[in-house]
Amino acid sequence: MNAFSTVHDLKRALEQKKISAAELHAFYAERIKKYNPQLNAVLETFPEEPKNNAGLLSGIPCLIKDNICQEGKTTSAGSNMLKNYKAPYQATVVNRLVNAGAHPIGRTNMDEFAMGGSGEFSAYGATKNPWDLSRSPGGSSSGSAAAVAAGLAPFALGTETGGSVRLPAAHCNLVGMYPTYGMHSRFGVIAFTSSTDQVGVLTRTVADNALVATTLSGQDPHDATSIPMAPKNYMASLTGKLPAGFTVGIIKDVHESEGIAPEVRERFDASIKQLEQLGAKIKVIDIASLRYGIALYFIISRAETASNLYRYDGSLYGNRAKDAHNLAEMYLKTREHGFGSEVKRRILVGNYVLSAGHKDAYYNKAQLIRAQLRAEFEKAFHEVTVLASPTSPTLPFKLNSVLEDPIAMYLADYFNVPNCIIGTPAISVPAGFSPEGLPVGVQFFGPRLSEELLFNVAYAFEQATGYHTKTPAGFE
Ligand code: GLN
Repeated sequence: MNAFSTVHDLKRALEQKKISAAELHAFYAERIKKYNPQLNAVLETFPEEPKNNAGLLSGIPCLIKDNICQEGKTTSAGSNMLKNYKAPYQATVVNRLVNAGAHPIGRTNMDEFAMGGSGEFSAYGATKNPWDLSRSPGGSSSGSAAAVAAGLAPFALGTETGGSVRLPAAHCNLVGMYPTYGMHSRFGVIAFTSSTDQVGVLTRTVADNALVATTLSGQDPHDATSIPMAPKNYMASLTGKLPAGFTVGIIKDVHESEGIAPEVRERFDASIKQLEQLGAKIKVIDIASLRYGIALYFIISRAETASNLYRYDGSLYGNRAKDAHNLAEMYLKTREHGFGSEVKRRILVGNYVLSAGHKDAYYNKAQLIRAQLRAEFEKAFHEVTVLASPTSPTLPFKLNSVLEDPIAMYLADYFNVPNCIIGTPAISVPAGFSPEGLPVGVQFFGPRLSEELLFNVAYAFEQATGYHTKTPAGFE
């Protein structure tokens, strides 16, 4: 066993009684103490001993993003607004992990209310990328990704609304999936864009990701958008062989976009060659409405933000301004002090696109194009088995670079937001490194409910390439 052992390695060591769950907890607690000061990935660790539940993840420690409720623990969503908020109940995804024997040992840093792509919009300071401390690990699940990459936990939960699991996975040499909308329960997950929010898992390997996702699967009666289906066993789908007739569709924009960094393009082209060697046929696919993805996401996510964050006015949740003289002032001051600049920007835009004079021009139109985008993706999956693109068009951001230029950060999700808008799954896997040693990710998109296919394609790619075995220097 070492700091970069996989969940599967640890499972074996526990089963063979080479180590106990309590020792494993102590091991990671010690690593967090040692390495977190340079990373700022973990906001709080918990002293409780593991519970000894028997299950698929028995005795495995994990970390949870700060917007997923852990009963009795602070759940702040990276915001000053909820700094002192203690969750009165447990999110279903956490319950399922605990019932499967996993042991949550802390909560991780994130962009405030999951709004951001670099982790720098956290009220608790930026998280650093273990591969290069002068860079961001990607966001908004910044702390979860940095922690797993640095071996501070074998796996972590993140959330994704439009790239927030896959982007940091790509920037930290990890695996991350956005599942079909409704696959993972949102009960107890602090809402941002309810029509696309999903929980996603961050791991070093595809098999680990499939294992943890297996424990999260199955309908949750507490979430009305949860898909009515029985729990899955994703492990059974990992054959390592591409299915017969497998065709990968390269999204045409990859060829045409000038915004893709040469190092990323080089890795993407190499990944496609690798798939060809595994027997894949290649096609180029034009999703005409893809270019509207960022604009659609901008409108829909802001509209839902304005509505979801309406509740933080000091009367029910979170911190209340103490210096107010009347009710209106309490609302104003609570929101003024509680929210950071990015969250405020989004609430303003959200109220604007929903206002009586602009709703038809923006929000309603966005919903129409959303339907168009869905139809185009569905058509594409009649021609190809999966679609492929780089996960991020750029290498990990230099710290402070996007704070001044949020538009650059929004554009980094060019390939990540369209499938979230239509609720279809995608998985990001390590695709190698830039010449300076920075991780690059490639992602595969499938139709609704194609998680088994995606896990298997990612697994075949991972086994043939082996990039996941590399770990960042300085965290031994
Ligand atoms: N980066 C995107 C944003 O800023 C996505 C965030 C997310 O998926 N939570 O909104």
